[in-house]
Amino acid sequence: MTARPTPRDAISSMEGYHSPQLDVEVRLNTNESPVPPPPGFREAVAEAVRDVAWNRYPDRHARELRRRIGALHGVGPEQVFAANGSNEVLQTLLLTYGGPGRRAALFEPTYALHGHLARLTGTTVVEGARAGDFTLDLTEVERVVRAETPVVTFLCSPNNPTGVVDDPPDVKAVLDLVGDVGGLLCVDEAYGQFAPESAMTLMGPEVPLVVARTYSKTWAMAAARLGYLVAPAWVVEELEKVVLPYHLDATTQIAGALALDHADAMNTRVASLVDERERLVATLRTLPVDVWPSGANFVLFRPRDHRGATVWRELVDRSILVRDCSSWPSLDGCLRVTIGTRDEDDRFLDALREILT
Ligand code: PMP
Repeated sequence: MTARPTPRDAISSMEGYHSPQLDVEVRLNTNESPVPPPPGFREAVAEAVRDVAWNRYPDRHARELRRRIGALHGVGPEQVFAANGSNEVLQTLLLTYGGPGRRAALFEPTYALHGHLARLTGTTVVEGARAGDFTLDLTEVERVVRAETPVVTFLCSPNNPTGVVDDPPDVKAVLDLVGDVGGLLCVDEAYGQFAPESAMTLMGPEVPLVVARTYSKTWAMAAARLGYLVAPAWVVEELEKVVLPYHLDATTQIAGALALDHADAMNTRVASLVDERERLVATLRTLPVDVWPSGANFVLFRPRDHRGATVWRELVDRSILVRDCSSWPSLDGCLRVTIGTRDEDDRFLDALREILT
């Protein structure tokens, strides 16, 4: 028998990214929207899809979609890069700017895909730590950035899985540091619309800043797989060279542009999820758990006896799925719950009360 070919070394030792899915009644584990987009949106997409020229490639440069997204953020299409989910956006960024002999910096705990995608692209990952309350520790950021001169530095605000929003002056300080060493700052704002602050305000033609967003959460369109970044035009130009031709299919482009016609409805939903988040946090505070303030559509909490993994299992036994973060860096005993409908959240809270008290 001939030997099986092996993947490159970096891949063989990888575990891949796993987000366990179980068949449960209440799914509060992947930070999706608990409700679908408005019916008007779905009807408009269905109608537009009927007219797709299926025998033709889609617009390779997704011009209409990028124009619409750019208008949303007050920039031109040349400053927008769109891809299949913000994960593909981040992967393209790393394929373009990372690679062997280059470094990407991140500050734990944070979104696991930043490190995973960096490693996949052969980029060396340098990890710094956030402060004990998960805010940015600027001394630590300066130490890492000056010592390692990363080509890409990641922040995630609101951060997944902590929900913590970085202070705008801190983000500006990191941007200045990163600029000093000739790197790019990538602020992942997958949950940006749930928070009061955004790094978009720091954008400028020569500012080495990239802000990534997604339709998966606030736009209630996880099924569409659409994400984008806003950056100086010279960054977008490079990314367009790297991404596969016609990577964004016609229906995704249509859905992404039409969604923006429903911005008011989407914003109303975001506001009600934010209200629901505050109700959930207030109730969690009456239970024997530590809770972190969240600017996202999820909340990190830790049973005071640190029995996170056991509590997770006991919630599953009651058909409720949250994210078990208890073995993640600096998150000993922690769980993350996505904001659902009021009914779903009540089921979660009642079950948690029953388990803990
Ligand atoms: N960034 C962060 C911080 C996320 O939490 C997620 C989704 N879990 C993503 C990016 C990727 O989202 P998508 O690929 O669905 O746009």
